[in-house]
Amino acid sequence: MQRAAHDAGRPVPRLLAVSKTQDETAVANLALQGQTAFGENYVQEAVAKHAAMASTAAAGRALEWHLIGHLQSNKAADAAALFDWVQTVDRPKLATALARHRAARPALAPLNVLIQVNIDDEASKHGCSPAEVPALAAAIAAEASLRLRGVMVIPTPHADPELRRPAFRDAKALFDALAAQYGAAVDTLSMGMSDDYRVAIAEGATMVRIGTALFGARVRAAGV
Ligand SMILES: *Cc1c(COP(=O)(O)O)cnc(C)c1O
Repeated sequence: MQRAAHDAGRPVPRLLAVSKTQDETAVANLALQGQTAFGENYVQEAVAKHAAMASTAAAGRALEWHLIGHLQSNKAADAAALFDWVQTVDRPKLATALARHRAARPALAPLNVLIQVNIDDEASKHGCSPAEVPALAAAIAAEASLRLRGVMVIPTPHADPELRRPAFRDAKALFDALAAQYGAAVDTLSMGMSDDYRVAIAEGATMVRIGTALFGARVRAAGV
């Protein structure tokens, strides 16, 4: 990551360790090396792992949990109770549900949210369209229990990560427009995974989401 950032003349982004399918011991081992931010795709898996962390050597460490998988509104209560960030807010109804459930837990800081934008993947049903971003951003910004932090994208898969570069570039432009409107609180552009993080960093990612390159290949399907 440092080399990619240096080569592109960009700041080094934050690392989100994607721990889906990894057990609490794997999370604890990374946490003991100083990693703080972990990404999970499924609410129930995260709830179980979060509880299991108490019996690891990393018990008591202040970790930051990010939801990076699609969220159904009927799971918004559990998500709002556990996560520090939800990166997959893609519709006003979900923002409203998360806000309501977070507000019911006044001991928790506002929930950090990213707008998931479907930047170029016609096959995916997740993520709002670029045209829907302004209205969704306004809905999030109106909620005291949510904090709008930026944009998350998952471009169309390509064997050649170079082919994702235009999508990353489009995402950066959307992010810059949002930051210009909402100010310095909008500081996070989440893009890039194990096979394409170098390209994402070159195009301005401030957070990359890495699973395989940190933990090795996943041995079972996520959520199972
Ligand atoms: C699984 C996942 C990642 C990590 O992918 P790797 O290729 O294992 O690095 C990143 N982002 C999202 C949304 C994911 O679901």
